[in-house]
Amino acid sequence: MIRLYVSSDLAPGSAVAPTLDQSRYLTQVMRLKVGDDLLAFNGRDGEWRAEVAEVLKKGVILRAVEQTRPQIFGPDLELIVAVVKKARVETIVEKAAELGARHVRLVLTRRTNADRLRLDRLDAIAEEAAEQTGRLDVPPVDDPVRLDALLDGWDEGRRLMFCDETGGAPAIDALMAAAQAAGQTVEQAGGGGKWAILIGPEGGFSPEEGERLRALPFATRVSLGPRILRADTAAIAAMTLWQAVVGDWER
Ligand code: SAH
Repeated sequence: MIRLYVSSDLAPGSAVAPTLDQSRYLTQVMRLKVGDDLLAFNGRDGEWRAEVAEVLKKGVILRAVEQTRPQIFGPDLELIVAVVKKARVETIVEKAAELGARHVRLVLTRRTNADRLRLDRLDAIAEEAAEQTGRLDVPPVDDPVRLDALLDGWDEGRRLMFCDETGGAPAIDALMAAAQAAGQTVEQAGGGGKWAILIGPEGGFSPEEGERLRALPFATRVSLGPRILRADTAAIAAMTLWQAVVGDWER
């Protein structure tokens, strides 16, 4: 069934106005007619069965019928990535939504060669990916901030999986050890604890940045193997490992 992310509140009988693009998709691509069903979610009210109530020139009006699932969130994982080329950032945002990151933060580092990013486009990519996965929230994508500022304001209760291309512990061992040190057995670790993954820019972290990151008490420095990966590949690999060891992939 079609799943649509909407911004309106969802309650019995409430009218929901999708965006113009979504309306076009519903009527012109999927050929929905008045009375047809779909699923809608807004990141707050769970998932709802909704039906097409009206098809107007200026868009479709849906009516929420009944809740099909209560609101749930996945594990508290943030993905922090240095700004890289636009196409790679777009891939990273899509894969972050698919692999269950709760939030995507973009950072500027010494060696970031900032491409101009369109946050509205990144939000749309995250929404479409979330619709497709069946998750009931959409990871927000924040405006880029400086890495130093982000670390200055860090919540020390959140662990950082620092992906360091210059070396580090093998990721699975390091994640298991960190989860156990935080009082979680590996079996209990599913979805436990607040975490973030940090991926650097194509030019890598500068020596000063590497030094600061290695000294952080909340950081777990990991290697993703003997090959240098592009930032998008590194982000996908890191999220996969994290989900398998610490996150909500059943073991
Ligand atoms: N230009 C750098 C590579 C940067 S790759 C160089 O040639 O050394 C971009 C980012 O992906 C890195 O900063 C790191 O966060 C991550 N990454 C890539 N390969 C990695 C690996 N083998 N282990 C850990 N992190 C890696």
